[in-house]
Amino acid sequence: MLFDMAWDRIIGQERVKELLRRAVSSGHVAHAYLFDGPEGVGKDALAIEFARVLNCQERGADACGKCDSCRRLESLQHPDVRLIVALPAGKGEKTGDDPLKGFTDDQMDALHAELAAKARDLYHRISVAKASFIKVNSIREIRRQASMTASQSARKVFLILNAEEMNAEASNALLKTLEEPPGNTLLLLTTSRREQLLPTIVSRCQVVRCAPLSVEDIAAALQERDGVEKDEAMTIARLANGSYAAARAMTSDDLLERRREVVQFVRLALGQNRTALLKHVETVLAGRERADAERWLRLLQSWLHEAVARRASSGDGNETRDDEDVQRFVERFPGADLTTASRSVDRSIALVERNVYLPLVLTTLALDLHRSIASPSE
Ligand SMILES: [Zn+2]
Repeated sequence: MLFDMAWDRIIGQERVKELLRRAVSSGHVAHAYLFDGPEGVGKDALAIEFARVLNCQERGADACGKCDSCRRLESLQHPDVRLIVALPAGKGEKTGDDPLKGFTDDQMDALHAELAAKARDLYHRISVAKASFIKVNSIREIRRQASMTASQSARKVFLILNAEEMNAEASNALLKTLEEPPGNTLLLLTTSRREQLLPTIVSRCQVVRCAPLSVEDIAAALQERDGVEKDEAMTIARLANGSYAAARAMTSDDLLERRREVVQFVRLALGQNRTALLKHVETVLAGRERADAERWLRLLQSWLHEAVARRASSGDGNETRDDEDVQRFVERFPGADLTTASRSVDRSIALVERNVYLPLVLTTLALDLHRSIASPSE
């Protein structure tokens, strides 16, 4: 497993990790913590990892990652650790009902999918369609659950994510719980809008400030977790303002945009209009920085590889949504000579690396592709 070392699932935040580890080893764990800091710096991740450490059957300052409790928490299916999030109103739901009452099967599936996504990626932000606020009944559950004996561990942990989404009723219920905390419960709240919480709630929690991440930490995470190359990772990290979530959003935007460009280029190369193809090369591609052009060519190369793989496995039912463009291409151009096309891209990459005049390289490539893909018999 990639992140089996204790606390290694958390990016940066060394000061907070140290504070929490010390609380665990000294046995001085408060009843309630509020993880406060900007969006995307790892507040949920820290809270979940803290819950994991406290429940670990090895009882160290780090989670062992191997015991039953650690493994259950990895899939966020721990009987003594509950996640509380904003939810949509159930059909015909009344005050006092179970928070999930009246949910349709689709709503339950969507909620489980979000929890599974969070389990896979602690930096995923849970978002449930039509969720309005954290319900008072979700908060009342705390007291009810707390009165039941913990099944595995000494402590029941309740994670209230984006706690500012509690409505007034839920806030008041939580305040009562904080005033007389049931024994052996731990409340972990996260928020990036502390000013929207009742001051009386804030004052009853130990506030854990989570600072923006450093450029180096974000860049390292982008490389290790998201496969972004070093230079690009550094560029994005500098723009992300300390937020890993913001950085990641930039990488996917960027990749999608580049992929669209590649598809557009292939489409033009397939068409009969050579003038439009050359014009596209001249206006869109030829003015790029060398490194950028090279990345673009590598993406084109990987697109062609996908097309080759898709053609080899066509009809096996493994198609995924994000490569519809590849699928359509394979169906419409069964005779395209993809091997020759792929070799042309390789040659272009080599020429770009050798500093050959970019507009010339790209124009030649465009015409080569036009020949090998659109009219392989010529
Ligand atoms: Zn463990």
